Amino acid sequence: SAKEQGKNSYCLFAEEMEDKSKKYMEMDNMLRKAILGNEFTLHYQPQVDATNGKIKKLEALIRWNHPERGFISPEEFIPIAEQTGHIEAIGEWVVEEACRQIKSWKGKGITTPKVSINLSSTMLSRQGISEKSIETINRSIQNVDVEFEITETAILTNEKNVLKALDIMKKNGITIALDDFGTGYSSLNHLQNLPIDVLKIDSSFLMNIHKSDKEKSLYESVIQLAHSLELEVVAEGVETKEQVEFLKENKCDTLQGYYFSRPLPPDKAEVIIANGFIKI
Ligand code: C2E
Ligand code: MG
Ligand code: MG
Ligand code: MG
Repeated sequence: SAKEQGKNSYCLFAEEMEDKSKKYMEMDNMLRKAILGNEFTLHYQPQVDATNGKIKKLEALIRWNHPERGFISPEEFIPIAEQTGHIEAIGEWVVEEACRQIKSWKGKGITTPKVSINLSSTMLSRQGISEKSIETINRSIQNVDVEFEITETAILTNEKNVLKALDIMKKNGITIALDDFGTGYSSLNHLQNLPIDVLKIDSSFLMNIHKSDKEKSLYESVIQLAHSLELEVVAEGVETKEQVEFLKENKCDTLQGYYFSRPLPPDKAEVIIANGFIKI
């Protein structure tokens, strides 16, 4: 009967919910242990100058190697860390670790490019976070050595606090990149008012350029728009020679993607930054 069916689907739904919250609680516990147990590392992916392949920056990307489960993707655990509050400790660890690494490379006499660090909005909306991050940076390196990446949605969800935090960082000489541009809902008008220096165009747009001239024009327009706002443009997800040619033709400033390099552990990243260039 309909009633029975309704009841069954309700049971299924409840079961699913229970599974989800069980998974969530499990992850909550795992994250708590991960922070205490030093299970995180940072990998670094180069961003190169589109004109000559010079390594301009490195993006720091968190890696979690769980003792039993092995590699867990940040796409999986960052959203949960944001909901459980663990993101604050994780975010602080990321900033500290990136600074430690930069200092260590500099200490070896290696010309170290600026390191770009992803910050979550949940963290950015907390009072005093910019002051705290600046303090951490200045204990070992300088503000110009780092950049912060924040997503469009991050800015939109907690606008007032986030904007205040970004303003303080910018006034202190830390550059700000808007990450995954095109996946959120910021209007062009809004973009003009944001305290940002860099626009990172989401990889989904580049993935489509081979499909049609329309997709190409869309990408070109975004580059032009960013340039008219005097922003540096970074193409995310560059994987093919064809994409590199397209981006060079259209004066994209900076390129990042597997075509040049995957995110690398510190020892491997060290070798390529010591080199300074990636063949383009
Ligand atoms: P994101 O900041 O947009 O980082 C770019 C993602 O694209 C990275 O995935 C990178 O490995 C991947 N990628 C780079 N080049 C290519 C390419 O050519 N092709 C493809 N298919 N992928 C490419 P990853 O490392 O898995 O990170 C995923 C997301 O997790 C990041 O996206 C960022 O939103 C978040 N995340 C990573 N590390 C951190 C962190 O330390 N803190 C915070 N809050 N979020 C982080
Ligand atoms: Mg990023
Ligand atoms: Mg991105
Ligand atoms: Mg992303």
